[in-house]
Parts: sequence; C-alpha cells; structure tokens
Amino acid sequence: MGDCVFCKIIKRELPSKIEYEDDDLIVFQNINPIAPTHVLIVPKKHIINLSEVTSENQALLGKMLVVAQKMAKKLEIIDAFRIGVANGANAGQTVFHMHFHLTGGWKEKYNGDEDKA
Ligand code: 5GP
Ligand code: ZN
Repeated sequence: MGDCVFCKIIKRELPSKIEYEDDDLIVFQNINPIAPTHVLIVPKKHIINLSEVTSENQALLGKMLVVAQKMAKKLEIIDAFRIGVANGANAGQTVFHMHFHLTGGWKEKYNGDEDKA
C-alpha cells in the first residue's frame, strides 16, 4: 500500500535492520524498542490488523507464531519472551499493517510496566 511504512520497509524503500525474511514474512528491529530485544514480525501481505483476517489467513497467522519462536531462539530470548499485538487505534495500534511485537531480554522478572510489550 502506497503510504504504509511497513510496505515500504518490505520493498526496501525505507531502511531497517532485517533479522529474517522469507516469501511470506519479514522480521526487523523496532526503530523505537521498548524492551532490550524488540523485533516486529510482519506479513508481506498488507493486512490492516487482526480485525481484517479471514480463515484464508490461518496458515499465515500460524507461521507468524512459528517464526516468532524461531526468532526468539535466534535472538537468545527463548527462555522468556512476550508476543504482543495492538488491534485498532484505541488499543494503541499506530502502524496499520498487521504485526506481532516480539520482546524479551529483561534482566529481571518482567513487571508489566512496558506498554504493549
Ligand atoms: P504499533 O504501535 O502499531 O503496535 O506498532 C508499530 C511499531 O512500529 C512501533 O513500535 C514503532 O516503534 C514501529 N515503527 C514505526 N515506524 C517504524 C519504522 O520506520 N521502522 C521501524 N523499524 N519500526 C517502526
Ligand atoms: Zn503495508
């Protein structure tokens, strides 16, 4: 989609630190991390958010979670990580291209203070 930041990252029209990519998904570092490790799991297909998915997206959504787990291993946060999704502006969604936040790397027990993490 023309104005979508994540579509631009996928098309390399905007720079990002890409950690993983395949035909369906891209994973890159969050420009504004709220945890020691914070990457975004993003489908290449422009789907606005979870409100828009259908059963046709079932395999893609499953793959997002499997890739999140693989990324947690790669980024060495497999012992303690969180996956977050903001769905809709009032839930804090700011980029309207569906994505999962994968966060981790805390030195102490997570205390829930980190918004959306
Ligand atoms: P949301 O607020 O929609 O749940 O998450 C959007 C996330 O995208 C935010 O955490 C924000 O930091 C990140 N973000 C926004 N613009 C860019 C960008 O241009 N590059 C990268 N790498 N992350 C971005
Ligand atoms: Zn997009």
